[in-house]
Amino acid sequence: MKISVLRAPRQFEVIEQPIPDIADDEVLLRVAACGVCTSDMEPFLGGQGQTYPRYLGHEVSGIVEAAGTSASRFKPGDRVAAWVTGRGYADYVAVKGDYVFPAGELPLDEALAEPLACAVNTVEMANISLGDDVVMIGAGFMGALVQRLALLQGPRHLIVADSRPDALACAARAGATRTVNVNEESLPDVVKSLTEGRGADVSFEVTGRQAPLTMLGDVTRMSGKVVIVGYHQGEPRQIPLGYWNWMAFQIHNAHFREEATIMRGMSIGMRLLTSGRLSLADLVTHRFPLEQINQAFQTAHEKPAGFLKSVITFSET
Ligand SMILES: [Zn+2]
Repeated sequence: MKISVLRAPRQFEVIEQPIPDIADDEVLLRVAACGVCTSDMEPFLGGQGQTYPRYLGHEVSGIVEAAGTSASRFKPGDRVAAWVTGRGYADYVAVKGDYVFPAGELPLDEALAEPLACAVNTVEMANISLGDDVVMIGAGFMGALVQRLALLQGPRHLIVADSRPDALACAARAGATRTVNVNEESLPDVVKSLTEGRGADVSFEVTGRQAPLTMLGDVTRMSGKVVIVGYHQGEPRQIPLGYWNWMAFQIHNAHFREEATIMRGMSIGMRLLTSGRLSLADLVTHRFPLEQINQAFQTAHEKPAGFLKSVITFSET
């Protein structure tokens, strides 16, 4: 089978390897799609502490080819979404049965259960109440997922801020009540005018960058919730803790690492996806075959106009 290995920064190579054996509790998947995740960008771009070679790829969907004796609730031909710990950019991958969820009739390149799990856990942690005013800074792929789930909770205002007009247009189509291009308008001013001067009940930062993180404090009401969703890689970040402390913010870190939490989020996310309560159809914007994996990553890094998410897709045969 073909599998891609990251040999050095920006150097994926597609090589031949044997199809993996499975343990009793594992399932062998014929991979249909594997998402390119922001967390994969650090090894791709290179930097301190990165080691090579690396077998990346954890947002996998596919068809069950074989199931171990203690994963027998799955049978060959089942269409599923899964979380693997790597090696997902390959024709086949072995995955623990516990990490596999039915995908029903969903197009498999839209069955991205793992990023959806993070968004589900984020929105559950934020515990949005009916009629809350919600601000979301960052309208990329993760921001769009969090936004769509937050809308299911019934907020009054859902104000989405970004600097990319195409990402904001996508947010508006999905039901944001107000979009703000931060290059053209002051987000704190818009939030103030829509919330009778109070600020948002809940605000999310979904960018992983310093400036939007700082801005959370300027758009949130006293005792409101600030939720850090972005993956903050590289340079240490700063927050004005004195002010945040004075404002009595409830500070939530929505970076989920525990397996049980991720699996619970995946289960909920797949229920919403397979039932049609949620769709990622318009969020997967770029598809590449395995041979073009370097280009897929480069595109995810450069984020051209209209970009939200890259997915590596495999032929169905
Ligand atoms: Zn991911």
